[in-house]
Amino acid sequence: MEFRKVLSLMLVLLFMSALLMVGGCEEEAAEPEEVDGPVRWTIASGWVAGVYYPISGAMSRMAYDHIENISITAEASGASVANARLIGTRDAELAILQNDIAYYAYNGIEMYEDEAVPEMRGLFTLYPEHCQIVASAEAGIENPGDLAGKNVAVGPLGSGTEANAVQILEAYDLTFDDLGSVERLTASEASDFLRDGRIDAAFFTVGLGAAAIEEVAIVKDVEIVTIDDDKIDWLIETYPYYSKEVIPADTYSGVPESTTVAVLAMIVGHADLSEDLVYEFVSGIFDNLDQPQSVQEAHERGTMITMDTALEGMPIELHPGAEKYFQEQGLVE
Ligand code: GLU
Repeated sequence: MEFRKVLSLMLVLLFMSALLMVGGCEEEAAEPEEVDGPVRWTIASGWVAGVYYPISGAMSRMAYDHIENISITAEASGASVANARLIGTRDAELAILQNDIAYYAYNGIEMYEDEAVPEMRGLFTLYPEHCQIVASAEAGIENPGDLAGKNVAVGPLGSGTEANAVQILEAYDLTFDDLGSVERLTASEASDFLRDGRIDAAFFTVGLGAAAIEEVAIVKDVEIVTIDDDKIDWLIETYPYYSKEVIPADTYSGVPESTTVAVLAMIVGHADLSEDLVYEFVSGIFDNLDQPQSVQEAHERGTMITMDTALEGMPIELHPGAEKYFQEQGLVE
């Protein structure tokens, strides 16, 4: 009896020390590996027919041509809301997203109440993204209030667009329940459905000139729904990242002028990225803006990525690597 007790105690001890050894090995394995060549980063971007994706592609080319220690892969996604989560789970090192959504994620409010992403850091802001409600002309939608009872694509799953759709409808005392049907389509599907008359309208918060909207405008009579001034004032007062913007006529083939709200696109990175590498990335982008195939050439919106506006509308703490670069440029004290 006594002997069996001692034996089982020994077995338990043996088992525990084996566990400790495995644990120890795991810790060792978690040490960063010494690898030759550049560090590989993923940038969570957005819709293939949007603007984040071509801009991310240009950043990846810029890194290849001008940034020695970083290689970047752009990945398409639902966009802003999903991208902040990809930073939180450390499935992406960098992400492009809307500044309103970055603010919600960092502070754990709105859709991030149970899952704040405090480890997200700002690098720089990019260009305005207009909330564009594209409606087929025959649907007779004069303002967002007329969306009641209509079939509407409210933004892809994981998009910032959907959050903006909720807020814009709120300004008109509407919710998704008041719509005829709520479609959650990718941006490309939403433009196909609009073209084929399967939906009456679709929300897109995206840089002007997005392929998703032009693809419908060239084949169908569509308009961008104007938001009334008093509703714009309410939106700006309630959700401070909005600004009032006019979309000039013919931004898309044959589409008349409209007035709406806009937010800003920005790029973020995980707080644990090395200061030196983030500095190298940010300086690599800004120091080479005039080079062939730069972010300014990838899309018309890329020309709005400038040193002067790089920290405008920045809603969260800067990454120390970005801070160092913008300090040297005199943008940060
Ligand atoms: N702003 C969009 C969203 O988060 C994505 C736009 C894009 O992919 O260019 O809903």
